[in-house]
Amino acid sequence: MAERTSSAATSRETRAATARQSRATRPEQVVVAEPPPEPDYPRYRVEPGTGVRLAGVDPDESEHFGRKKDVAPELARHRDRIADLQARLYAENRRSLLLVLQAMDTGGKDGTIKHVFRGVNPQGCQVSSFKAPSVEESAHDFLWRYHQRVPSRGMIGIFNRSHYEDVLVVRVKGLVPEEVWRPRYAVINQFEQALSLSGVTVLKFYLHISRDEQKRRLESRLADPDKRWKFSANDLRERRYWDDYMAAFEEAIGSTSTDVAPWYVVPANNKWYRNLVIARTIADTLEAMDPRYPAPEEGLDQLRVED
Ligand code: AMP
Ligand code: MG
Repeated sequence: MAERTSSAATSRETRAATARQSRATRPEQVVVAEPPPEPDYPRYRVEPGTGVRLAGVDPDESEHFGRKKDVAPELARHRDRIADLQARLYAENRRSLLLVLQAMDTGGKDGTIKHVFRGVNPQGCQVSSFKAPSVEESAHDFLWRYHQRVPSRGMIGIFNRSHYEDVLVVRVKGLVPEEVWRPRYAVINQFEQALSLSGVTVLKFYLHISRDEQKRRLESRLADPDKRWKFSANDLRERRYWDDYMAAFEEAIGSTSTDVAPWYVVPANNKWYRNLVIARTIADTLEAMDPRYPAPEEGLDQLRVED
């Protein structure tokens, strides 16, 4: 009997937690009293069914924010919020957050992870970087390797590249025919919907840099001995397909920005503005999820730790 009561309580709590989680993909409606928040991240969310024109998003945008130094305290504040909320998410141990990062080469995926997640407890966070699939991975359905890395309850998972490569590089380089990659948009939407139903909040960021900015970043990788390890001659080959990649990103983002797993197109020529937008979006999303420390065992007030 006692066991049945507690399992009923558990499913009630799980339902409440899932309801909080389903509001999390429009966090400004939950946590911001007077929209728009600063930075104005909701404007970068691609509303479901609207499509996106990347040429219409200015990669140099930084609103009224002037320079890195000016946003440092604000960025630090959002990092602290993320660290505190992550501790709660971990303790609550019911839901998880999956962040997808996609960009052109040099777009800033690694830098975002380094700067936004500084201070987060590594025990509650898992970064997965996806390269060209191994022989074993290629022998499975395309989602197989990604599904295994979806964060378990309590965890934040970061995908540095993701299942979206299978409708991006795969399409642009003609690795499979269109009748194979095109149906994947629907498969991806179903996958993300299924994750959401089991308590995973999914947020996707496209870091939007310009072609000129990529040139500058590649040149600096070539010139700086400490950055050369990051340079790959393949980046120069991929760069030639810039327009094809833009078309592939536009269609992928437009076809898969949903209520349960929205895309944000983040201006990313200014690294500090990119970090600020992403940190705020993540902090507000976690706050809207409202993770809670579990209730302590009963009767703790009476307990004394013996000498
Ligand atoms: P990097 O992120 O710079 O280490 O590069 C990883 C490389 O792996 C990129 O060139 C990606 O395009 C490639 N890659 C990632 N996922 C896939 C995939 N599913 N199929 C083919 N290439 C991929
Ligand atoms: Mg690279």
